[in-house]
Amino acid sequence: MSFIIKNIASVKERIRAAAENSGRNPNEIKLLLATKTVSAEKILIALQAGECLIGENKVQELKEKFEILKTIPHQTHFIGHLQTNKIKEVIKYADCIQSVDRLELAEKLQKRLEFENRTLDVFIQVNTSYEESKFAISPENALTFAQHIKQLDRLNIKGLMTIGLFSAETEKVRKCFQLLRNIQVQMLEKDLPVHELSMGMSNDLETAIEEGATIIRVGTAIFGKRPYPDSYYSNDNK
Ligand SMILES: *Cc1c(COP(=O)(O)O)cnc(C)c1O
Repeated sequence: MSFIIKNIASVKERIRAAAENSGRNPNEIKLLLATKTVSAEKILIALQAGECLIGENKVQELKEKFEILKTIPHQTHFIGHLQTNKIKEVIKYADCIQSVDRLELAEKLQKRLEFENRTLDVFIQVNTSYEESKFAISPENALTFAQHIKQLDRLNIKGLMTIGLFSAETEKVRKCFQLLRNIQVQMLEKDLPVHELSMGMSNDLETAIEEGATIIRVGTAIFGKRPYPDSYYSNDNK
């Protein structure tokens, strides 16, 4: 059996255990495969085994793998930092953009979608760890930002996304996820349809599930260590 299939089974077992611990139904938690730097052939193994949701960080990779992956029905979310000059490309290949983090990006997406006479699902990416290097809207500005986006009729707001603090201290990481959940509650009260919470990765998925994640994004625990340092993905200057 492929190591990928085995790893997916272990991740699913972790999802089940974390859901059970927090009195949740594991079926309400979706597994998104974070596939940056992973070859299309490896991703295919997961799709053939029944996985149906992947996430890419770079428009170039999305495009390169598209032809091979499109043979099997699945959904692709864009989860990386998105430059406005890539909008036209990214919406050809992605079903959802989870990393909407600034008004300029939202407005330009709206314009392009108007031009193509279509709509797109989006998540708002919130900087719950207060790390300066992260592209994301600050928790303080998230509500106003979401209200702006609601005015953009081509963008369907689906939920909130965050990257938790990179730390071995679980309680610090948990604070990030609790913050996202609190922001969600506030937004739901204002009729902003942010029903999904995309949070939790290989190292912190249990904590995220305990705090209400509906989508976890897992790369390393399934495909192994990436060949590039993660800092490579923190900006799009390449
Ligand atoms: C790479 C990545 C992940 C997955 O991280 P792992 O630690 O490899 O599970 C999740 N979300 C985003 C935005 C990523 O860039």
